[in-house]
Amino acid sequence: MDVFGLVGNPVGHSLSPPMHEAAYDECGLEARYVTFEPAPDEIAAAIRGAESLGITGLNVTIPFKRDVLEVVAPDAMAERIGAVNTIDFTGAEPTGHNTDAAGAIRALREHDVTLEGGDAVVVGAGGAGRAVSFGLADAGATVAVANRTESSAHDLASEVPDATGHGLDDLDSLLADADVLVNATSVGMEEDATPVPADALHGDLAVLDAVYRPLETRLLRDAADAGATTVDGAWMLLYQGVEAFELWTGREAPVAAMNEALRSRL
Ligand code: NAP
Repeated sequence: MDVFGLVGNPVGHSLSPPMHEAAYDECGLEARYVTFEPAPDEIAAAIRGAESLGITGLNVTIPFKRDVLEVVAPDAMAERIGAVNTIDFTGAEPTGHNTDAAGAIRALREHDVTLEGGDAVVVGAGGAGRAVSFGLADAGATVAVANRTESSAHDLASEVPDATGHGLDDLDSLLADADVLVNATSVGMEEDATPVPADALHGDLAVLDAVYRPLETRLLRDAADAGATTVDGAWMLLYQGVEAFELWTGREAPVAAMNEALRSRL
């Protein structure tokens, strides 16, 4: 039996266990997906313990995504993003990966959004903003990062090929000619709020909101009203999980079963 899991603190409301167990059922794999909540100063010991116990793979969430960089061998994308959300124990040493970037890109492509040669605006320069920005640039889009703390947007833009950094005041002008908008802030999660002025949205945009609780954020409602293509955060969550499953098992993920397990709980 393979054991997979999630380390974070807290992990009580995670949707990863049902999503991954639906995949094991669908593929007839003898595997379990369990959650672990180590104390903040125990994370390195927890990862080494997981390796010793023969755990096959772990997802990593808040607050440990940066800390585990120190105890695994990160791949190039995890290193660039500066965060690990997936650990693979199947090789000679634990390797660290970040599937949030590919998760966002696959979510957009699933909705027929063309990224190559497009102009993309990423709002947010935290962990999700970093992942999405590198993912979009690798997919061939020109990225503009806008963030409440403008200096963080400039810092991130200096690391992403051909990107520019901005404050939120620039969103109106940035969005006028943009093809893709991603909200990678937590705005919209706690309250019915949006980081993007509604009148800056238009029908030629595709809008991905990384927030998935609630599924229909104010940003996505405004985007739909403007005639834009909308992609909710559960698509990104789904595809980061799909990428992790494929990395760990080497087989194609049963996307429909994972999607159903996820959406039935949102
Ligand atoms: P993070 O590293 O803490 O970054 C938070 C970002 O939100 C920063 O850019 C921050 O700006 C901005 N922000 C926070 N409050 C704001 C406000 N009131 N007005 C404007 N900007 C504000 O968090 P994260 O890990 O990147 O996560 C961000 C969101 O993405 C969360 O909702 C998370 O659940 C979601 N997410 C979703 C997925 C998925 O698979 N769907 C994956 C990863 C993350 P400052 O720099 O100015 O503080």
